Amino acid sequence: MEYTQLGKTGLKISRVGFGGIPIQRVSAEQVKPLIAQLIREGVNYIDTARGYTVSEEYIGCALEGVRDKFILATKSMARTKEAMEKDISISLQNLKTDYIDLYQIHNPSAKDLEQVIAPGGALEALCEAKNAGKIGHIGITLHSTDLFRQALELPWVETIMFPYNIVETQAEDLIARCAEKNIGFICMKPLAGGALENAPLAIRFIMQNPHVSVVIPGMAEEKEISQNISAALDKRPLTEAEQAEISHIRNTLGTEFCRRCNYCAPCTVGINISGSILFEGYFNRYDLKDWAYDRYMAMPVRADACVDCGVCESRCPYNLPIRKMLKRADETFANYKK
Ligand code: SF4
Ligand code: SF4
Repeated sequence: MEYTQLGKTGLKISRVGFGGIPIQRVSAEQVKPLIAQLIREGVNYIDTARGYTVSEEYIGCALEGVRDKFILATKSMARTKEAMEKDISISLQNLKTDYIDLYQIHNPSAKDLEQVIAPGGALEALCEAKNAGKIGHIGITLHSTDLFRQALELPWVETIMFPYNIVETQAEDLIARCAEKNIGFICMKPLAGGALENAPLAIRFIMQNPHVSVVIPGMAEEKEISQNISAALDKRPLTEAEQAEISHIRNTLGTEFCRRCNYCAPCTVGINISGSILFEGYFNRYDLKDWAYDRYMAMPVRADACVDCGVCESRCPYNLPIRKMLKRADETFANYKK
């Protein structure tokens, strides 16, 4: 395994980490051999979130007796001090530990970030938890390049997590800025949420970028762990044929791939555009059908309310055919019987 320092945290981490989203579809017992394999292969970084239903709990159970072998990172959608205090305490309980190495503010909008930083906001709880030795470091996870730019200037931000993969290279210059500022860069969505089928190529593409501290593919099977680690350790430069495949993927998949930046918002009738497309991705690619269906159906305004005004498409920096994509998402869920 290759190790690096996670920016100013000083933590020595493996460049491949374990992404804890997909274990939501397996059982707690099935996570134990995965953790044992991570130890054998030298992976010491685990990422999870309060929002990933059972993920923290399953990881907590599997870590009994081996907690000290891992750098543990989780995140919360809490925006107020009170809610964040509660979430930190639940995370500690779920992960069966008295210390979490990295606690991140999970995907705030610009308005959320203001609330997080303001008096009574979630940052106060994180700073207090850090002073009390309950968490080690504070990070943030984002989807908008504007917020990424802003986060680079926030003195308390020790790590930034952002999507980076063959079709999502919009933050490449900002990732380089992280290295200049000694902020750890955590690469999420290396397989574009499961949309990239050639996983070894996708991982190798990311590992060629020296500014990526750690890549965290979501994994729920032993063979996925082996495959991703071998790809990450394969240091051969990409061949011409592989470069051509990358261009082909960008020219096909990239034209209908939502980056969740939310520049298209607000929708004229209140549809959560990126959320609708995201849930369809979880349904089709992560095989979390019931989970995605429930969340899609719970949205106050669903994609079938679209009045075809086209305003969102004029705002999308990637020129995505949003109306067509929403129609497809709605059909996916309308045809599903739980
Ligand atoms: S085209 Fe549909 S999704 Fe886009 S802003 Fe108009 S109503 Fe909303
Ligand atoms: S549809 Fe376009 S603007 Fe809206 S979140 Fe996706 S990529 Fe961003």
